[in-house]
Order: sequence, then structure tokens, then C-alpha cells
Amino acid sequence: MFVFKLRPTEKTVNWLKQHKIDSRALEIALTLIFGEIYPKKKIKKKQLTIQVDMGSDGSTYYFGTDKILLCDKPYANNNSLKYKKITIFRHLLHEFRHWMQSQVLGIKASQLNYTDEDYLKNNKKYKHNKYEKDARKFEDKFVVKFMKYYSCFKTSGQ
Ligand SMILES: [Zn+2]
Repeated sequence: MFVFKLRPTEKTVNWLKQHKIDSRALEIALTLIFGEIYPKKKIKKKQLTIQVDMGSDGSTYYFGTDKILLCDKPYANNNSLKYKKITIFRHLLHEFRHWMQSQVLGIKASQLNYTDEDYLKNNKKYKHNKYEKDARKFEDKFVVKFMKYYSCFKTSGQ
């Protein structure tokens, strides 16, 4: 199994602090979820870079990399901090699943055969893509458990 270590960029450290998100608890929650899906005896450390993408409309994972980009405001301004956190966690889980598709399942970027335009339009070609559906399903399936794991390991008050 992989033990995940998150390496947030400098800007991201501040952004996480603003949202009272504990990145240590995030990496433990990711490790536990991943271990349930791929239980293997061999332990390997895996470093993932997390970068906040200021002003972006969506979060991104570029296939073939170990880097996840999260848009800075995937929520409405009047949402509660708790809701904001859940939304950010959903984005993280979604992109984490794309990382799994690429780095564990060997899916190539070309298999997500939609364009940036399809994505921006949020059209059928994007929405019904097999791997996008899979990432959304993953996000839905694991968000509650992820939150529970996160809560167990977060530093108090976060
Ligand atoms: Zn996606």
C-alpha cells in the first residue's frame, strides 16, 4: 500500500490555514481510504504535491504527474466553514481518483477524450466520460468516510 505524504506549496499552506484544514489529517485519511481499496503488504511512501490554483474555475489533475491542483473557491462565499471544507475535500478526492486512474490503473490522458472547451461548457462529452463518471462516483462514495477519518486525526479545533 501507499502511505501518502502531502506537500502543499507555500501559497497552499496559507490557503489551508485559512480554511482550518490540517494537511497531516488529510494525508492519513487518503492513506486509509487507499489502503482499503488496494490492500497490499508492501509499504511505499508516495509524495503528492498539492497546489491551490488561485482564480481557477475547477480543480485539475494532469495525468502522469504526482500533483493535484485545487481551485481556491469551489464554494459560495456565504457557505459555512464546514461546508467549504467538505467541498474542498470532494475536490481533493475527485482529483485523487484521477491520480489513481493514472498512476495505479494506468489510464492515459488521451482516454479522457474531451477538450478544455467540453469541460468549460460542462457538456455531455465531458460529463459522460467514463473516467469523469468514475471520479464523481468515487467522490460520492468516500466523502463521508474521508470526513470521519479526517476528524479523528485533525489537530483539535480544526
Ligand atoms: Zn474530473
